[in-house]
Amino acid sequence: MRVFTPPPVTRLPRVGTTIFTVMSQLAAELGAVNTGQGFPDFEPPERLCELVALHLRSGHNQYAPMAGILPLRQAIAAKVARHYGRKACPDAEITVTCGGTEALASSIQALVHPGDEVVLFEPAYDSYEPIVELCGGVVRRVPLSRPGFAIDWQRFADAITPRTRLVIVNTPHNPSGACLSVADLDRLAEVLRDTTAYVLADEVYEHMVFDGARHVSLNAHPELASRSIVASSFGKTYHATGWKIGYCVAPAALTVELRKVHQFVTFAIATPLQYAIADFMTEHPEWEDELSAFYSVKRDRLIDLLLPSRLVLVPARATYFQLVDYSAISDLPDAEFALQLIRTIGVATIPVSPFCERAPPGERLVRLCFAKQDATLVAAAERLVRL
Ligand code: PMP
Ligand code: GLN
Repeated sequence: MRVFTPPPVTRLPRVGTTIFTVMSQLAAELGAVNTGQGFPDFEPPERLCELVALHLRSGHNQYAPMAGILPLRQAIAAKVARHYGRKACPDAEITVTCGGTEALASSIQALVHPGDEVVLFEPAYDSYEPIVELCGGVVRRVPLSRPGFAIDWQRFADAITPRTRLVIVNTPHNPSGACLSVADLDRLAEVLRDTTAYVLADEVYEHMVFDGARHVSLNAHPELASRSIVASSFGKTYHATGWKIGYCVAPAALTVELRKVHQFVTFAIATPLQYAIADFMTEHPEWEDELSAFYSVKRDRLIDLLLPSRLVLVPARATYFQLVDYSAISDLPDAEFALQLIRTIGVATIPVSPFCERAPPGERLVRLCFAKQDATLVAAAERLVRL
């Protein structure tokens, strides 16, 4: 028998296993406190779980419509109208996806042709670039200014060329918690006004914004919305990252292209989850409004617990992440420091450098996730203050 020896082939030569998977696996192996990968260690709302069970048992177990069940698209339209004043058409402008991840991947694949340029702001969430590369696109990275992780508008304008097909923004921003303001969106609109570039807005942390601030969505900016796909994730909003369900809002013509990809990537999303979320959104619209207060208590708890430590906290204005500067403790690069932490004190963190092609030299930041029960935050902090 001749055995086929596959030739070495990779479409993604620079990609390994994601840092989130690496750190969670290590945390499990070592029994470490997992404040690395972003997921809650508590349950979704009880009523939502009941609704999933109800719909599982009431015959909602076959393929959902490709775009998502109508009641869920209607609930999303109502929510987008309520929060951002945008009237999105459930039939033509809203698509339910397999989490934010598929929303982003299908959007990029729908828009990017070989040779197109895609502008990302760095640190950039790690899933954007590989999908652009699979499309044959070319990534242009624009570093966010330190210490506040704001957009440097001159550098951004300089990165735009006639070949720019897409700009990806992430607000609230993982890992820094920075948020775009109304003035930022106006600047973005101004720079793009005479271009043919689209925008992909990753807004999965839209309901976790602190200190009285409000999320500024591209959904609330008609000029930008007309050239944008806005992506969000129910996994984040309902403490259910394992359900992998999210959505995109985009003008009809963009939605047509997005769905051409979506229908062949996933086709449709878990039916009972869609019915359950649709019901829950209608029964409990207040959930989204209360989430920021819920997470700001956790952020403040972590800040208090880390007060005696030698870590310096970068102000966390949104998301469920806290960046900490460890330069008073170690001079190791962040990835090495994160490995040292998990091996020596048993705390999993996420280094920032995997979000960057070139992190600023000397930057010493790791990310902690505070979507955790109090006991987890206490356990992580007890170990971190010993450093
Ligand atoms: N974008 C960002 C910035 C994220 O942090 C995440 C996930 N944590 C996603 C997208 C993906 O969302 P989902 O888990 O719904 O696929
Ligand atoms: N978005 C999550 C984080 O930033 C990770 C999701 C994943 O592992 N794909 O931690």
